[in-house]
Amino acid sequence: MNIVLITTEAVPFAKTGGLADVCGALPVQLANHGHNVTVLMPAFRQIHSAGQPISETDISLPVDIEGHRWTARLASSTLPDSEVPVYFIDQPDLFDRPQLYGDEHGDYQDNCLRFSFFSQACLQAIERLKLPVDIVHCNDWQTGLVPAYISTRFGDYSWMDRVATVLTIHNLAYQGVFSKHLLPQTGMGWEHFRPDELEFYDQLNLLKTGIVFADAVTTVSARYAEEIQTEQHGCGLQGVLHRRAASLTGIPNGIDTAIWDPATDPHLVANYSISNWQEGKASNKRDLQETFGLNPTADAPLIGLVGRLAEQKGWGLVIEAMRHFLSTGNPAQWVVLGTGDRRYHAALSRLAGHYGDRLGLHLGFSDALAHRIEAGADIFLMPSRYEPCGLNQLYSLRYGTVPVVNPTGGLSDTVVDATSQHVTEGTATGFYLPTFDTYGLIEALSAAFSMRRNSPEKWTQIIQSGMTRDWSWGRSAVRYEQVYEKTSARKHGALRGH
Ligand code: ADP
Repeated sequence: MNIVLITTEAVPFAKTGGLADVCGALPVQLANHGHNVTVLMPAFRQIHSAGQPISETDISLPVDIEGHRWTARLASSTLPDSEVPVYFIDQPDLFDRPQLYGDEHGDYQDNCLRFSFFSQACLQAIERLKLPVDIVHCNDWQTGLVPAYISTRFGDYSWMDRVATVLTIHNLAYQGVFSKHLLPQTGMGWEHFRPDELEFYDQLNLLKTGIVFADAVTTVSARYAEEIQTEQHGCGLQGVLHRRAASLTGIPNGIDTAIWDPATDPHLVANYSISNWQEGKASNKRDLQETFGLNPTADAPLIGLVGRLAEQKGWGLVIEAMRHFLSTGNPAQWVVLGTGDRRYHAALSRLAGHYGDRLGLHLGFSDALAHRIEAGADIFLMPSRYEPCGLNQLYSLRYGTVPVVNPTGGLSDTVVDATSQHVTEGTATGFYLPTFDTYGLIEALSAAFSMRRNSPEKWTQIIQSGMTRDWSWGRSAVRYEQVYEKTSARKHGALRGH
């Protein structure tokens, strides 16, 4: 099939979270399966430090928005170790900025304009590049207008009536909600500002727009696909999603095993696999302890955390539980890597100031350090309030680092709790919080500490069960192919039926 994937993030060009990992890996897998895939994304400032050569093209794309003509140039590259082309929509005023979506003051004020422009420029890029296209695969709210444009034949390109659109929701909490006064920036007429289209409580909602107009909707785990149809996790869109239930599929993310493999990972001081993980992990643990000035003991459990410092990830509980363990003299060591919400920066810095002997803190984004933490920690903590799929727990499993998680969304689909039955069967791979609160977190961590200390043979089995699970992209890519084929067939059946 001919697939055009539209995204704002793709490894190695631009990344704030899991969306980038998915959009860097899935196209390569699809291409390996014989599909013709092209990626379209904005030329953010970050793309120039990706280490991939980027070429200019002489194609320029003019987009008129509220009487002003914005012009983008197209630049191009390929995804690493592949021939998958990536085209960048290069409009420096809109995309050449320090961050992707906002700065310390909050979201960029012109995000509605930026991503309306991007979405319209992508349509022009398909036309100008004469890309053969059966499927346009959009991702998250930034691309939510694209299915609406295609469905309403905005710009009126001839390929629009043949193409089927798929929207993947990587995180329902980010919806691209704007004042209705910005509707003209999207180019859509006021007749579309209605509850079954772009309107959401008298505002404009770009994710909802995508959900309503896409021919198929996917999200990144089976459990999350169920959860987002409930009031608890639906973020106000549960009704809209429930109405689309027949076209909604949960497909778990895979991991890019070329990048995340302890046997070849260039960031590690020692590479290892299932046959020598004890020595390999011990060296990486020592390295991490030395880097952060922690006591280089093998005995104390080392807990790793990597992630956005956002409420979603359960940092409130983490900070409380950390304070409990640190202040009561528990020897457990902690290494934290993250950036985001200022209040968590402040609370973690205070703790690190008091307990620097057992808490190593890096407030920033560091891919290399993320790899070293996955390898050097004994336990990886991920008590997310909700988690569409989650990648870090998958990396942890592969790196022999036992995940302790809140069983929600993808975390419950991918980690098997160490209940006595699962331990006896040999299927356990991690620990669940019994309740989503500080006590639940302390209890789960205490259970993990205790098994590590008192039942090393069970602990070893948990590590090895996790390391042998297969999370490579192959299987997930097949599921996307099935969605593409079904959606395209349905679309063509519907066209013939007309
Ligand atoms: P989300 O997409 O919600 O942020 P995921 O677990 O799906 O969470 O993916 C997060 C990705 O971003 C992982 O690859 C993780 O290693 C990476 N990441 C998050 N924060 C940082 C950071 N501060 N430094 C390096 N990598 C990070």
